[in-house]
Amino acid sequence: METANPALEPVCRGVSRLTFTAPYAGALEGDVNAYLVGDREGVLIDTGYPWAAGDVERRALWERLGRPRAVLLTHGHPDHVGGVAALAALGVPIYAHAAEAPVLAAAGLAGSWRELPGAAVDTAHGALAVLHTPGHTPGHCCFELAACGILFSGDLVLARGTTWIGPPFGDMRAYLDSLRQIAARPALAILASAHGPLDAAPERRATAVLEHRLQREQQVLAALASGPATATAVATAIYAAEVPQALMPFARMTALAHLDMLVSEGRALSAGEAPDGDPVFLLP
Ligand SMILES: [Zn+2]
Repeated sequence: METANPALEPVCRGVSRLTFTAPYAGALEGDVNAYLVGDREGVLIDTGYPWAAGDVERRALWERLGRPRAVLLTHGHPDHVGGVAALAALGVPIYAHAAEAPVLAAAGLAGSWRELPGAAVDTAHGALAVLHTPGHTPGHCCFELAACGILFSGDLVLARGTTWIGPPFGDMRAYLDSLRQIAARPALAILASAHGPLDAAPERRATAVLEHRLQREQQVLAALASGPATATAVATAIYAAEVPQALMPFARMTALAHLDMLVSEGRALSAGEAPDGDPVFLLP
């Protein structure tokens, strides 16, 4: 029996993609992908949204595929951990990077997971290498299956578009370094990200995202060239023409992450707050 949500598709030998439809209209993230490594009782990477249709489809899925041996989390944002509580209740061990603790606590999962056991996790199709790639969140990880040259990239690199980076858990400097880490891995053949389609050549995509972020950095500096500006004013100058109004809070957070990085590097200065609490920045 094929379940509609999640949809299940083969990626390469022994690897399947589970695509979860957003449980509500207008979800910022759209559909979300999880991946199963192993034909039966495999290692599940992320758990997607909470299953919208509830336990019936979920039980049918695990009856067909076998209960996962383990779950590895790329990070703790809600669209990636929706099935964690249910799988933990079935006795499936849930693993994440130690630095992800505050994000998982914010998702209500403080007691439901344990620290990743090391630099690699065994699967029926070879070792999954753990690559700590902080920035989107502090404990964000990518996983690499060398047997098929797949990078499971979570929210670090998407096949299309870019992810937001921002407070409370985002760090632009760390994010740029993580993109450089992936851009330097040329042996990869398949990008399997948490949103959108599969793509080829993860390192090329990481390079493109890195270049986009550095362009945004130049735009942030240009927005400060005419004098002090709030984070909101900087975001409006850069994003308002191309980002729908509903997504502007995320654009503002990403602009703020750029501004915080520039301040930490001495390339911009923090200049207090506007009366509404919006932080103000200026060039040195
Ligand atoms: Zn995320």
